[in-house]
Amino acid sequence: MNEKGLTTINLKQINRAKVYQYIYKKEATSKLQIVQDLQMGLSTVSQNLTILEKEGLIERNGYFESTGGRKAQAIRIVSSFKISIGVGILKNLFHITAVDLYGDTLFADTVSLPYSNEPSYYEQVAQEIQKFITANHYEDRILGVSIATQGITSPDNTIVTYGNIMNNTGMRLEDFSKYLPYPCHLEHDSKSAACLELWNHQDLDSAVIFLLNQNLGGAIIANHNILQGNSMHSGTIEHMCLNPEGPLCYCGNRGCLETYCSANALENASGLSAKDFFTQLRSGEVPQLLQIWKDYLNHLAFAMKNLNTVLDAPIIISGYLAPYFTEEDIDYLIEHINSATPFPLGRGNILIGVHGQYTPAIGASLFYIQQFINSI
Ligand SMILES: [Zn+2]
Repeated sequence: MNEKGLTTINLKQINRAKVYQYIYKKEATSKLQIVQDLQMGLSTVSQNLTILEKEGLIERNGYFESTGGRKAQAIRIVSSFKISIGVGILKNLFHITAVDLYGDTLFADTVSLPYSNEPSYYEQVAQEIQKFITANHYEDRILGVSIATQGITSPDNTIVTYGNIMNNTGMRLEDFSKYLPYPCHLEHDSKSAACLELWNHQDLDSAVIFLLNQNLGGAIIANHNILQGNSMHSGTIEHMCLNPEGPLCYCGNRGCLETYCSANALENASGLSAKDFFTQLRSGEVPQLLQIWKDYLNHLAFAMKNLNTVLDAPIIISGYLAPYFTEEDIDYLIEHINSATPFPLGRGNILIGVHGQYTPAIGASLFYIQQFINSI
């Protein structure tokens, strides 16, 4: 192929990608708007729309309100054209989610299955994933299966290098992927959660993520990237020491933030499940619970204040406990963070995640969505 021919093909691909990605970002647009905003000729845009429609990537569906002339046809991407499966592995259960090209959850489920580092476990997880895919008729649309696990992974995401909670150090991506006929990916669940929060707050440059799950997690977003670090443990705020004489942490040290602010810590302190704890706390009928909650928030505020000196950026409360936070709780945190700091934090700098326990699974699934959108 001569140079000119190659250039023409490249240009065609670039235009196709530009048109698709424009529609993707706009969610609903018209042909004329694409012509104007991309400064492309009408015939080029028409050609690309025809190609994308034939490929099944976009649809013309409905009309915009007329502003005088002919009503403009609304153009959208087909958000269910491809689907990514996200899995969140925990000690006694795993979450499974299917998300579309906008990262919206189409389906989410929880499967009870205690973790064990045995082939039978991985085979069972894979069987459940397959069942889920078949039941929802997703077979032909799967981009991949992305697995979020507790534990730090190797930089190439093929093996867990630190997994003291689930005792899954040495767990390999291959343990899952050999039973699944799809591309598979493995990542640390705190990083998955950060992916989802970044996805939901696309204007954020930087942030500190507090993943308030049964076990605490954390992540740092800086310059729109999730920091990994030299040995993949950037943002592991759960092992920040609050009190060297404090309770024993699973990492072997004492007084880590994990021992004060994980959902496990709250459940141990109250003797209640998180759900029951918040129901009874909010009813106001058990005064001791208010004290337990204040202690929890005090420790959280202390950690937030310290981390804000490291990263001058918003804080995102994410994960299982996030949906239980009220406006008053945020006010309380802000008041305590700001009671003794040279750099007060504005009220709008604490954000709350909305996906609760499914946060890591949904966040993991975005790996394939992002890859697909960039590959168009
Ligand atoms: Zn620890």
